[in-house]
Parts: sequence; structure tokens; C-alpha cells
Amino acid sequence: KKRRPLEADEAVEGILDSSRTILARAITVIESRAPAHRPLAAEILRRCLPESGRSVRVGITGVPGAGKSTFIERFGLQLCEAGHRVAVLAVDPTSAVSGGSVLGDKTRMEDLSRHSSAFIRPSPAGGTLGGVAAKTRETMLLCEAAGYDVILVETVGVGQSEVAVRTMVDFFLLLQIAGAGDELQGIKKGVIEMADAIVVNKADGDNKRRAEVARGEYSRVLHYLHPHTPGWTPKAMACSALDGTGVDAVWKTIGDFRSQLEEAGTWSSRRQEQNVKWFHTLLKDAVLARFFESAAADGLREIEGEVAAGKVSVTEAVDRLLWP
Ligand code: GDP
Repeated sequence: KKRRPLEADEAVEGILDSSRTILARAITVIESRAPAHRPLAAEILRRCLPESGRSVRVGITGVPGAGKSTFIERFGLQLCEAGHRVAVLAVDPTSAVSGGSVLGDKTRMEDLSRHSSAFIRPSPAGGTLGGVAAKTRETMLLCEAAGYDVILVETVGVGQSEVAVRTMVDFFLLLQIAGAGDELQGIKKGVIEMADAIVVNKADGDNKRRAEVARGEYSRVLHYLHPHTPGWTPKAMACSALDGTGVDAVWKTIGDFRSQLEEAGTWSSRRQEQNVKWFHTLLKDAVLARFFESAAADGLREIEGEVAAGKVSVTEAVDRLLWP
């Protein structure tokens, strides 16, 4: 039986009433690339916006196998037990094809997904990294309006997606493992520089000592880096997502981070900066898309041909398209 399409009132009331079913359906509208869904998506967002923002936004990255899903499940369950409501989102631009996603696998975080205070949403599928990130940002706002006070945004530690996630969260956490030989495990230095905390996971059993050594090394590395968040010295920690040791210390660190930034007044100013940057990014994308549409009509192809043949200089070709 075909379901009645979602209406704006029903969506907004459902979200504010913390209905996970309605929230999930509203996110589907937000993620939709069908032009027909745009006005509804825009109205839902506009009406949820005043109720958003009351959460801690935490980005979590690490290479596949570092233990991200194990950590998020343990961390999320502890937070839910402590009375928080936790939404887990993901930015995975590789999830273009159904079922091919690294992060979207439904069997992950089974216990957390069954908890009534948790909401887990896989990465929007398909599209560019910018598109996926934009949908995740909007989804985050809806989750906040639905009363989730901790938003965990997971991403794979392999490329540009960390930068996208860094710009949408307050606190950025890099999950590492010790003893893989290469201490940096293919994680780029740039990612380490973005981190507010590096957490060496799997600090249990035979691995405990090596994890502690790695923690000390990261601590020294972080000491020499320019902190990404002004006024905050990034921390190196160790934990076991498997047995839970050290996981609550991560939450305590995030709390310290928040109170320090709030005292300095940078907690909200940074979010404002992030919003303006996001606005500029979307604006640039839209202007570019619109320009190339009209440029196509204005003979972009022909001018390209002339540029290729050396009949017209690149500078002149640009001027001809921009100021015809
Ligand atoms: P992800 O790819 O980063 O999401 O990593 P997973 O959470 O799927 O974990 C990869 C493997 O490491 C799994 O077999 C986990 O059981 C294991 N693992 C995760 N955390 C720990 C930990 O704290 N200690 C140990 N010993 N194993 C862990």
C-alpha cells in the first residue's frame, strides 16, 4: 500500500514531538534530489531551525578497522544510559551505490540502534562530497529539533570527507590504533592537525602497553602542532571500545572543551563562522551551476573549441563568457 506523502505540519509536529518515524521520513525528503521535494524540505528546515543548535556536535574519524562503530556504539550507549539522546549520522561519499557503503551497513551498532534514546542514520547515498555533507548538516539540524543533544558524525579516514565533517562539528575526534607499525597509519598529517583529541583505541589485553606508548607519542606530536581550535590544547587519550575502559574520559574531555570555549565566547562564534562558510559554499555551488547552464546556451562548446585550437586566448574566452 502506498504511503500518503508527508506534509509540512505533520513533519514539523512529529519532529518536535521526537517521533523517530517522522524524523526518518523528513530526512528522506531532505535527502531527496527530486525538485518536487524542495519546497517541502525547505519549509521543514525553516520551521525546525529555531529549535536546533542545542547539542554537542562531535565528528569521529579513523581508518576502517580502527574501531569507529564499536566505539560509537559503546560511547552512545553510555550517553543514553546517562540520560542523553544520541543521533549518529555519517558522511561517506563512497556510498554511491546501494549496499556498497563502508559506513551504512545496517548490522553495525545493533544494540545502540535498539535503544529508545538513539537514532542512527546512514550516510546519504550518491552525489558529490559537498552534496552529501550539505544533507548531513541539514539532517543534523532536524535531529537537534527532535531533541537529540549529542550528535555524532562519523566519517571514514580516507580523504577529503574529514574536512567536510570538521566544518560541521564542535569537537573533532580521531580514532587511532597502536602497533600497526606505521604510527600514522595512512592518516594524513592534516587530519591530525584538525583533531581536538586523538584517542588510541584497542587499549586492552596484550595491546594495552603499546597503546599507552602510542598515546604518549601522539601527545608529543600534538604539543608541537598549532591547535585547530583556538584556546584548546588537543588531548591524546587511550581507550578500549571493546571493554569500555577510558570511554567515559572522552566524554569528560568534550565537556571540558565545551566549558572552556563557552567561557571564552568561542563556542557560539565558531558555529556562526561555520554557518557563514557553509552559506558561501552553497552559494558558490549554486552560482557555478547556474553559470554553466547559461554558458552552455551562450556557446561554451564553441569557445572551448576555439581555445583548444589556439584561436582565442584563455583570458579573452573567459571575458567573452562573463561579459558578453
Ligand atoms: P571501524 O571500521 O572503524 O568501524 O571498526 P569496527 O568498529 O568495525 O572494528 C574493527 C574490529 O576491531 C572489530 O573486529 C572490532 O571488534 C575490533 N575492535 C574495535 N574496538 C576494539 C577494542 O577496543 N579492542 C579490541 N581488542 N578490538 C576492538
